[in-house]
Amino acid sequence: MIYWLYAVHTGALLTVPATRVVLALDIGGTFFRIALADANGVILKQHKEPSNPELGPRATISRIKEEMQTLLSDVDRDSVLGLGIAVAGLVMPAPGILLTSPHMLKWYNTNFKEAFAREPGFPVWVGNDANLAVLGEHAFGAGKGIKDLVYLTVSTGIGAGVLIDGRLLLGSVGFAAELGHTTIDVNGPPCPCGSRGCLDIMASGTGIARMARERLRAGESSVLSDLSGGDPGKVTAVMVEQAARAGDRLAAEVMRTAMTNLGAGIVNIIHAFNPDTILIGGGVSKAGDLLFGPVREVVKERMMPDYRVNIAPAALGDNSGILGAVAHVVESTTGL
Ligand SMILES: [Zn+2]
Repeated sequence: MIYWLYAVHTGALLTVPATRVVLALDIGGTFFRIALADANGVILKQHKEPSNPELGPRATISRIKEEMQTLLSDVDRDSVLGLGIAVAGLVMPAPGILLTSPHMLKWYNTNFKEAFAREPGFPVWVGNDANLAVLGEHAFGAGKGIKDLVYLTVSTGIGAGVLIDGRLLLGSVGFAAELGHTTIDVNGPPCPCGSRGCLDIMASGTGIARMARERLRAGESSVLSDLSGGDPGKVTAVMVEQAARAGDRLAAEVMRTAMTNLGAGIVNIIHAFNPDTILIGGGVSKAGDLLFGPVREVVKERMMPDYRVNIAPAALGDNSGILGAVAHVVESTTGL
């Protein structure tokens, strides 16, 4: 009795697990994470380990099922709303198929709904991780209550999710919102997707590192030569950001060019979807003002004058895939 009074008084009651829980899985080219969360997006338990994509889906899915059983060991199965799966790659949500993923080549055509149909034995939903992240930000993060919302992750690559009037934009088979592969420069460098000059290759962490490496190889001087031990191939986006902050001219110019490209891509997004808010997450967003400064400048310069948009940091960080999957299951089962 004393506990409950205390809990209500302090507001701690909000963190007491809701009666319904969701199992969520986030699979990428480096790690998989599996978590049990309540319907309010509070992660109750989780496990993370390398996804070893080079081994193919069979071994990893088997490991995931083992960890799933551990997470569910003391959970009433009737309280589980379902399993949500966020995958990095081109996903067909209806059949639950990961068609292709640049970081998980051996997972071509993996049917997750089929793989998890018997275990754990409750409904399964599958989506692209950045697509689902917009649902997570809308339900639990920086996009609460915003019905026209875009989420962009700027990391090794650029992924996106688009919410229009509160509904996730999927397209005819589920490949919508690949905004990283919209063209910024028709004559730009080749992109692994097969096109050229994509936003992804012009503004992602990979793009930042590529631009810095090219200039170092051309003989320009920069503190990045020391930071990379004299090997331009070892330059990373994080090094470029740090060098830019320390006042290095080449690094500052590369950051500015990449984030100006990002701003141009965002102007395209604004004109295509007229969102209320664009949330930016992913590793490169940790650059803060080095990202948001140039992006907001370009948007101010190039956006048609009658448009209005709020550009802000996303809130869920590394949990965006997991909580996106949770939001998707909660919305799909409760109609929220
Ligand atoms: Zn591309």
